[in-house]
Amino acid sequence: MARYTPMIEQYLSIKKQAADALLFFRLGDFYELFFDDAIIASRELEITLTGRDGGQNERIPMCGVPHHSSDSYIQRLVEKGYKVAICEQVEDPAAAKGIVRREIIRVVTPGTIMEGKNLSEKTNLFLAAVVSSGDLWGSAFCDLSTGEFYVAETDEASFYDDMLRLSPSEVIVYKQDIQAEPFKRLAAMISCVFTEVSIDMLAGLRPLEKLHKHYGVITLESFGLKEYPLAAEAAGVLLAYLESTQKRELPHIKPPQYLVTAETMTIDSFSRRNLELVESLREKSKTGSLLWLLDETVTAMGGRLLKRWIERPLAVKQGIEERLDAVEEWVQELLVREDIRALLDQVYDLERLIGRVAYGSANARDLLAIRSSLAVLPDVKNCLERSRSTLLLRLSARIPDLSSLVELIERAIVEEPPVSIREGGLIKEGFDARLDEYKIASRDGKRWIAELEQREREKTGIKSLKVGYNKVFGYYLEVSKANLSLVPPYFERKQTLANGERYITPELKEKEALILEAEEKMVDLEYQIFLSLRERVEQSLQSIQEAAEAIAEIDVIQSLATVAVKRRYVRPVITEGDRLLIEEGRHPVVEAMQNDEPFVPNDTLLDCDENQIALITGPNMAGKSTYMRQVALLVIMAQIGSFVPARRAEVGIVDRVFTRIGASDNLAGGQSTFMVEMVELANILHHATRRSLIILDEIGRGTSTFDGMSIAQAVIEYLHHSPKVGAKTMFATHYHELTKLAETYRGVRNYSTHVQEKDDTIVFLRKILPEPADRSYGIQVAKLAGLPREVLDRAQEILQVLQEEGAQSARETAAAKAGEAVFEDASLPSGETLIKETQNDASLPISVKRTVSDGDAIR
Ligand code: ADP
Repeated sequence: MARYTPMIEQYLSIKKQAADALLFFRLGDFYELFFDDAIIASRELEITLTGRDGGQNERIPMCGVPHHSSDSYIQRLVEKGYKVAICEQVEDPAAAKGIVRREIIRVVTPGTIMEGKNLSEKTNLFLAAVVSSGDLWGSAFCDLSTGEFYVAETDEASFYDDMLRLSPSEVIVYKQDIQAEPFKRLAAMISCVFTEVSIDMLAGLRPLEKLHKHYGVITLESFGLKEYPLAAEAAGVLLAYLESTQKRELPHIKPPQYLVTAETMTIDSFSRRNLELVESLREKSKTGSLLWLLDETVTAMGGRLLKRWIERPLAVKQGIEERLDAVEEWVQELLVREDIRALLDQVYDLERLIGRVAYGSANARDLLAIRSSLAVLPDVKNCLERSRSTLLLRLSARIPDLSSLVELIERAIVEEPPVSIREGGLIKEGFDARLDEYKIASRDGKRWIAELEQREREKTGIKSLKVGYNKVFGYYLEVSKANLSLVPPYFERKQTLANGERYITPELKEKEALILEAEEKMVDLEYQIFLSLRERVEQSLQSIQEAAEAIAEIDVIQSLATVAVKRRYVRPVITEGDRLLIEEGRHPVVEAMQNDEPFVPNDTLLDCDENQIALITGPNMAGKSTYMRQVALLVIMAQIGSFVPARRAEVGIVDRVFTRIGASDNLAGGQSTFMVEMVELANILHHATRRSLIILDEIGRGTSTFDGMSIAQAVIEYLHHSPKVGAKTMFATHYHELTKLAETYRGVRNYSTHVQEKDDTIVFLRKILPEPADRSYGIQVAKLAGLPREVLDRAQEILQVLQEEGAQSARETAAAKAGEAVFEDASLPSGETLIKETQNDASLPISVKRTVSDGDAIR
């Protein structure tokens, strides 16, 4: 069999180093793809598939893209989930003996892109690495464009939560783990690319050594990771992968930051979705979410930080108060806030810009953007220095003095530099003496040539003589046919045209050579000057990152203050107690989106004692879930450090917010509604603590009435009795029978949504009353929805029959079950009794009707 040509042999050996990527192989002005890569790329990019002789009988499939427009092709492939390995010629073809040496200089993967539309302004793009051991999970997340780096070591449930929250585009997993069940589950949850790595990818180093090497430290204690070996290992794997794909130093990657749970409130992924914290349920867009409401940030960095704050509110009083103090100060100081907004408006995405500098991809325009951003820092600092808030003062102290860098860039780079850094036109005159000399030489030469036209016209008497330039011949003198007789002997003919001739003179060529040489040197020198300038900026990497972090936080605080003023929010009182008290609270997003109907405010009181469980009844559409979400959102806002929509609010710090909101009908295919509901409920009952806030909406409605109601009642009893739990709970239900629990259990209170009946239709008053609803008004709501008259009448008939039967059977059931214990360890640790009435009454299950409500009867 014939051998491949040497070039194809070279291709194949390089391809082996990037087997899971499409290899872009540089050939002159093109990147070529061969074999299967060519077939895939031609299909995905809709470019022509051709062939090339490779030394064997069959031609090798091939396709290619021009080098200068390759970025957009690479981006398109990566956005489709492919990896692209870029292989360049690493020696000058003119100097090469035999085949030009080629090397992969970078592998672009979905988790490591530095530009393009997948990299949206106000969100992060994460690459993750995961390792596990037993029940423990170590994970690491890095945004290559900003240098952010987070690690965690958690149980499986929190691991999924982190994954869903940070939603990485690419997840690195050890080869031996990839088939494990949890990864299959993860793959069903988030849309990302999984990359398998083997330990040898780590180039002989253990992951931990990698970490030590990258940051030049000898102990993990410096990162606070000593207690978290799996987190550290994941971080090491991630760094090793970055090294093997990016093939360059990445000094902008910050030291890994541990995602601490004790200091932050945990919001699991169900709740994050249900409460529409960062994206709305229906449209899956930012509009209609809490983030949308609170986002008055003016910088991209602030936008990204606000999202992180919302996803992880604080759970420590001091931190929350500090933020609230800062927000309050700017709520009061309108002028300062306006100034800050105007200043921040001039700040570009410093985090990503400095990332590009460190990565080596920043151009002159990027340096100018850095300059303008840094130039406003002294003014920002000035604004903050007079603050009372400790947080603002601390942020002000974090803003470094980078004026010399600003001045340097200012002096060096022209006002409107080109995109390319290799074609000159970047550096201002007066910055570099040698460069100026070349510039003068080129300019003088050009002037000499410009004047030549006049001189030669006078000398030769040819009035129409012209000086021109083209790429092939360079400068020339053009004479029209009519004047050829006047051409002097020192003109050398170069080219004949239809209506004239082109000439050169030795003097002209001499000047031309000088100009070209000067220009070539100029371009080279400008490039060198630019590189050293970029290096100089890179030396300030840490200061710029520090500035970027401070700016992001300042921006979020002004955003919260701006929203507070715009929407008339108040500062919540934060306590370490159990009580949650809201006077005239409003749902922030419903209020903001609703223009026709005024929002009706409502009060809330929850604690770990007599007001532990609020049982809310009332018809559909009356406002139950809006009310409950409002309470959860207020608590979350308060713990972010935001003002809240209420007349007054007192928030005892909550460690976790749990929600199980009825119609989370946006199910991942396969599981039944009921199963999903029970899984979520189990998660809540296992993880809730006394300091948690639980929102349950219509638990049990996914199954038969009896089952559903029994489960609902058992859940309430568990939350009420189990000494471990005692969490503040809001429970909306259709099962009217449950309202009787308030008579039996000390911590259960009834509430309902006020509706008014007019003739046989109803009006929702949106007011929460401290009493149970009398009925569900399901048939009336159905009528509002426009069900045919016959159906409504018939439903009314059926309802009556069922209610009569139900009352009868309930009496029988109650009699049969009397005396049975409801819950075994129904005592509080203090021995205090939970029960209002007698022990006998408490053990009576609440009477169970066959059909519970009109609502159910018509479903
Ligand atoms: P339920 O959970 O009882 O079925 P929802 O909470 O879904 O009812 O409320 C139905 C609609 O009523 C909401 O979409 C909202 O537009 C409106 N609404 C709810 N609460 C209020 C309120 N307090 N003030 C004004 N409108 C409200």
